[in-house]
Amino acid sequence: TKQDTFETINPSTEKSLASYTYMTDSEVESKIEQAQEAFLDWRFESFEKRGEVIQAIGKALQDHKSELVSLMTDEMGKLLSQSEQEVDTCTAICDYCATHAATELQDETRELTLGGKGIITHSPIGIIYGIQPWNYPSYQVIRYTIANLMAGNSVLLKHASNVTGTAKKLETIFKSAGLPEGLFTVLVIGHDQSDAIIKNRLVRGVTLTGSPKAGEIIGQKAASALKKSVLELGSNDAYLVLEDADIKLAVEQSVKGRIYNNGETCIAAKRFIVVESVYDTFKEGFVKAMSDLKLGDPKDKNTDLGPMARKDLRETLHEQLTESVNKGATVLCGGKPDSGTGYFYPATVLENVKPGQPAYDDELFGPIASLIKAKDGEDAMRIANDSRFGLGGGIFSKDVDKATELAKKHFDTGMVFINSFGLADPKMPFGGVKDSGFGREHGGFGMKEFVNIKSVMIS
Ligand code: NAP
Repeated sequence: TKQDTFETINPSTEKSLASYTYMTDSEVESKIEQAQEAFLDWRFESFEKRGEVIQAIGKALQDHKSELVSLMTDEMGKLLSQSEQEVDTCTAICDYCATHAATELQDETRELTLGGKGIITHSPIGIIYGIQPWNYPSYQVIRYTIANLMAGNSVLLKHASNVTGTAKKLETIFKSAGLPEGLFTVLVIGHDQSDAIIKNRLVRGVTLTGSPKAGEIIGQKAASALKKSVLELGSNDAYLVLEDADIKLAVEQSVKGRIYNNGETCIAAKRFIVVESVYDTFKEGFVKAMSDLKLGDPKDKNTDLGPMARKDLRETLHEQLTESVNKGATVLCGGKPDSGTGYFYPATVLENVKPGQPAYDDELFGPIASLIKAKDGEDAMRIANDSRFGLGGGIFSKDVDKATELAKKHFDTGMVFINSFGLADPKMPFGGVKDSGFGREHGGFGMKEFVNIKSVMIS
């Protein structure tokens, strides 16, 4: 029989933080009905009115910033300064969506082929069910929720169980900002309960951010219920270091790109594909910088790298490393889980990373970097695209025009960063190709994923 409670654990101390009880199926059903009731009013609110509430949420996030920041760090171990940045990004998303929804979703008119006027309108469709990961506990929730609220939908959230405290905190913050009851609802549920939600006739769309494995399962469940899904999945992003790169800059940005958020970022730089002529120089600088990082308490200002979010995630990461090494990869630094308390794993660099090894073929969701040597720029681009994933990627080169052309025409990913490591920008679309999923967040595109693009034709 299924347990009806679970605990959240601080990954730095291994101590229990809180205990939660799963909702019963009938509680979940009544929450869905409330979400539908709320939608039936909210769908007719003006963009102006919706925008006011969303701006108030953006402000409330700032008012509650310190509690949220410390809760996120306790629940999943990210550095305090990065928790702060996350809350600021959330407020920026609220601001962007509140300001731009009216333009992004405005009616369009066209002259009809056989005469008359056509109007294209973007109507809300109902309840959108989001299943979200723990790695950016507030941002992941905000990015689909705010876009959908501005579009006139209502939202359900099944957050990753280890960040249930953050989910509930966000619910309280939204309420304090004046968001009407039922428009944003946290469901504390297990995987088995999620299936009935996808099937529920009132639920009109499903959006998952998570691992490719969960993507396959949830994508199929949504499809078999004839519901649209957006899948934002993992990746093994490549950063190219070309012959004419500024190596000092490339090293500095590559280290940041690999270890930001304790190495647990979907668009983290994971494979570093370095052209032969600069390989040794890059390798020397990169390995030194990775070895110098301070592993420890994420609440300590001097720490560079906090713990991994859960014990099982650290075990999986180490298994992937071990298998890669057994198949020929070499460890240049790190490579062993820390033996003390907490789920710490040191910054690690691998070389001789080849097809057939998890480090080459799969996503390593933790602070392990893979160095790969390429003959030249063309070979580097080929290796970058030799992946089942396609979320983001980067290019280091002093020739920005050449790098831009490569990014536009050759990189098989949804995002490319030139001469820096970057995260999501509320103004730019975010999402992947290939096994990294489909659909887009941000930049106006996220607001259009779950609307009815309706044609009204007047003769
Ligand atoms: P995960 O294990 O796939 O979990 C993600 C969410 O899905 C959690 O809420 C999890 O719930 C739920 N879930 C998993 N299997 C499920 C099932 N069969 N039925 C219902 N719910 C299910 O991924 P994660 O470890 O939390 O997150 C890391 C992954 O997310 C990485 O691959 C990363 O690259 C990816 N990611 C992608 C993006 C992007 O925008 N593309 C952004 C961030 C992260 P439980 O916690 O209860 O298991």
